[in-house]
Amino acid sequence: METISTIKRTTSEALFSKAKEYFPGGVNSPVRAFKSVDGNPLFMAKGDGCRIWDEDCNEFIDFCCSWGPLILGHNHPTVYEKVVATLQNGASFGAPTRLENELAELILSRNPFIDKIRFVSSGTEAVMSALRLARGYTGKNKVLKFEGCYHGHVDSMLVKAGSGLVTLGSSSSAGVPEAYANETLVLPLHDETALRACFEMYKDDLACAIIEPIPANNGLLLQEKTFLHLLRELCTNYGVLLLFDEVISGFRVGFNGAAGLYQIQPDIITYGKIIGGGLPVGAYGARREIMASVSPDGPVYQAGTLSGNPVAMAAGIAQLTVCAQPGFYEDQERRTLKMVNAINAHAQAKNYAFELVTVGSIFWLSFDGKKRIHKAEEINPDMTMFKRIHANLLNRGIYLGPSGYEVGFISHAHTDAIIDHSIEQFIAALDEIYA
Ligand SMILES: *Cc1c(COP(=O)(O)O)cnc(C)c1O
Repeated sequence: METISTIKRTTSEALFSKAKEYFPGGVNSPVRAFKSVDGNPLFMAKGDGCRIWDEDCNEFIDFCCSWGPLILGHNHPTVYEKVVATLQNGASFGAPTRLENELAELILSRNPFIDKIRFVSSGTEAVMSALRLARGYTGKNKVLKFEGCYHGHVDSMLVKAGSGLVTLGSSSSAGVPEAYANETLVLPLHDETALRACFEMYKDDLACAIIEPIPANNGLLLQEKTFLHLLRELCTNYGVLLLFDEVISGFRVGFNGAAGLYQIQPDIITYGKIIGGGLPVGAYGARREIMASVSPDGPVYQAGTLSGNPVAMAAGIAQLTVCAQPGFYEDQERRTLKMVNAINAHAQAKNYAFELVTVGSIFWLSFDGKKRIHKAEEINPDMTMFKRIHANLLNRGIYLGPSGYEVGFISHAHTDAIIDHSIEQFIAALDEIYA
């Protein structure tokens, strides 16, 4: 019963020892540390299409895809060429370039939910700025978030629920003052009673409700459309802005993200990940009247030395141009469903308490049996089985992100042949860990 990964790790181990001298935990973002799976992180050397190679020359099919941004896979020729050509003209000016217009035009001409956009450099920055905009526009302070949704490392979003039906948040990270956390209300997902009660109690203080319409950072907690519609309705009735954090779902479940998929009009949308083609870009957008509050038009200050960086804009333009082609998302979903359905059919036939949950080209390994789960508290906290399948799949040349709470992604470069091969490997891994 093979569960420990036996791939060669000599170079990665040496690099990690060095990295631990330089960086807290040896990494520049905590989930990379492999803390919740077997061993230390693999240091990557190269990516091409759906494949990655680590520093020990192990080759993997990559289902992490940089945690989402690489919807075309690694080193896509269109993205590569546009980035290199742009870089030849200079890396940054701190003055406007035509590339910002081009990326905005590409997005806004197809997106009926927002009129104007502002580019920033990360998803966290987009959320931070969007929350300030919501507060500045409404003149109110409190923000409602949902347990199990991730919105980056913004102070006011690093909160967890206290006890009780409707609760003021308490900070979930050292360094976040309780006074900030108290401006955030935290509710469970998928709980209409708590939602109604919260709006009734806090209607006069709430600037906005922020949600991942497709919660995909803590399992894949797909919400019923009725819950999202109720949230929209309550926001409208009580004069609260609805903020869709589409940093992960934007350009992933369709060009217009979850707003397009569910046909729900949010008041503000945040983007990140895919929008930058693998380079650091985030964005927030809203209707004209709300965006008029952003500086220099309005009183809500927000700025960035590298915002709208030309090289990053070029990568975004190249990637989103491919995504905007007819049939792109249908084909993404078809290949994803092919993999998910084949693996689920096998797990079901063998009675394994395992299921791939999916939407668009996102999938998540659920070890909760066949029930469909909607709330963070329903996730099986025992990650033993995830650890074992993660290690087993590494041996089989399949790379999943090193956490059972994170989702996997399929890119344009995961062809039918790659999917067929991956199905075989997943099934063989399941048979071994459940044997
Ligand atoms: C990834 C993510 C963020 C944070 O984006 P960063 O670029 O990592 O700062 C925020 N919200 C959601 C929904 C995300 O998936």
